[in-house]
Amino acid sequence: MVAPIMVWFRNDLRLNDHPALYHAAIEERPIIPLYILDNEAPGAWRRGGASRWWLHHSLASLQSNLRQRGTNLLLRRGNTSEIICSVARQTGADKVHCSRQFEPWARQLEHHLYERLAEDGVTLVRFTGSLLRDPEGVRTKSGQPFQVFTPFWRALSAQDIRNCRSQPPALLPPSEWPEGEALENWTLCPEKPDWAGGLRETWQPGESGARQQLDAFLATKAETYRYDRDRPDLPGTSQLSPHLHFGEISPAACWHAALLKAAILPAAAEGLEVFRKEIAWREFSYHLLHNWPDLPSSSFRQQFAHFPWRPADESRAAHLQAWQQGRTGYPVVDAGMRELWETGWMHNRVRMITASFLTKHLLIPWQQGEAWFWDCLVDADLASNAASWQWVAGSGADAAPYFRIFNPITQGQKFDPHGDYVRRWVPEISALPDQYIHAPWQCPERILKHYKIKLDATYPLPIVDHKEARERALMAYEHIKAAKLPARK
Ligand code: FAD
Repeated sequence: MVAPIMVWFRNDLRLNDHPALYHAAIEERPIIPLYILDNEAPGAWRRGGASRWWLHHSLASLQSNLRQRGTNLLLRRGNTSEIICSVARQTGADKVHCSRQFEPWARQLEHHLYERLAEDGVTLVRFTGSLLRDPEGVRTKSGQPFQVFTPFWRALSAQDIRNCRSQPPALLPPSEWPEGEALENWTLCPEKPDWAGGLRETWQPGESGARQQLDAFLATKAETYRYDRDRPDLPGTSQLSPHLHFGEISPAACWHAALLKAAILPAAAEGLEVFRKEIAWREFSYHLLHNWPDLPSSSFRQQFAHFPWRPADESRAAHLQAWQQGRTGYPVVDAGMRELWETGWMHNRVRMITASFLTKHLLIPWQQGEAWFWDCLVDADLASNAASWQWVAGSGADAAPYFRIFNPITQGQKFDPHGDYVRRWVPEISALPDQYIHAPWQCPERILKHYKIKLDATYPLPIVDHKEARERALMAYEHIKAAKLPARK
């Protein structure tokens, strides 16, 4: 009997451009595709609610695609190492293929699994599937990891990005399947209350949804991306982030598709270079996480360990809740937080505004915002979330300077000039004229009355005054600015 190869699927839930699957298939041996739901991996951040919803649909889609190819996806729940070793013993598999992951716990798991499998004479072979390059492959001239994006981008874009492969021509099933579980029994989707209606309306998880999203972006938004990508009122970005997080499409596929489109449509070339740069920000986030594994929990700049955040009292808890619920009284902040709750996604510009508001206007530690985003985002991604929160907070490697405090009124006026974004998510003030939509408290009483808007009743007054909050944040920063601490190595 020919020994099968196990392909352990992780955040790479696709058939196209999947090096681990492809290299198993070309051996012309039976393949056992396997996914493990491991809620107990030590040190792992458990998936949030929105991410679990997406995972359910993504697995269903992968399973259906594999069935159409005459095979299946074996689903198991529990301790990853134990399950993989036991399935290998049961089936006689002598190799396990997987894509590398870079979260600290995932790296430990790969290491441990490699050793345990070796004891049984089974080889774990890891492939680069979720990134353009392995983080070790991009280094400064002196062999150090990068801490600044621009030189990282230069080094990355000067390298060859591997070509994409199509689906393997044949996927041989094993002669006998080990026992698996039914996806429905994993209860990844919410039941009562079912809060996922907005997610269902907004997204099509799975590989074909991802490809459609990329094709639609290239066909209709590539030319305007460089102007529209900062406008939350326009559908100007690709919305590929959850598809990329779950690996339903590879970054290499997006990269090459963008290059190809730029070659045939020169008017889109500039925008598509910006798009590839955004994909490189994802890559840079992984580069940082790989080299500084405490990125999700500790400020990269060590002075921030002494930052005078507000004490964790009732008033701070009330402000955190107002932020989470989209009831801060600043319309663009509230629109973003409600979009997040409803759809599991938020426009990048608004992520920056809301994150700045939490860390600077409210002086609440960035880790609290990171945790809320982690729970609510369909694209919740340890590397991108942590790196981005630290970027906004000013504590990150290549961070926005701390004194750059987003003004939620002028940011709204600039990037949502007619208030369409705010009107969509904050309907209780949608009747306001454009000039007051980002600052309802400046609206004359008679106009408010006319539209039956009662500030502090139908819509909150600002929970902090912008000017005062800005001064307070700058003073807090003065506190740590003077601290001279060694740079991170
Ligand atoms: P596009 O503009 O179409 O960009 C294409 C792709 O590039 C995205 O799908 C994404 O994979 C990547 N990308 C774009 N911007 C960034 C960035 N700044 N950092 C890293 N990758 C980027 N992104 C996540 O994928 N997961 C997160 O958990 C996450 N948390 C964030 C938290 C904060 C506070 C901030 C400010 C940003 C966060 N981002 C996160 C980055 C960014 O907001 C999203 O990737 C982007 O909004 C996704 O929309 P899009 O796919 O339409 O992006």
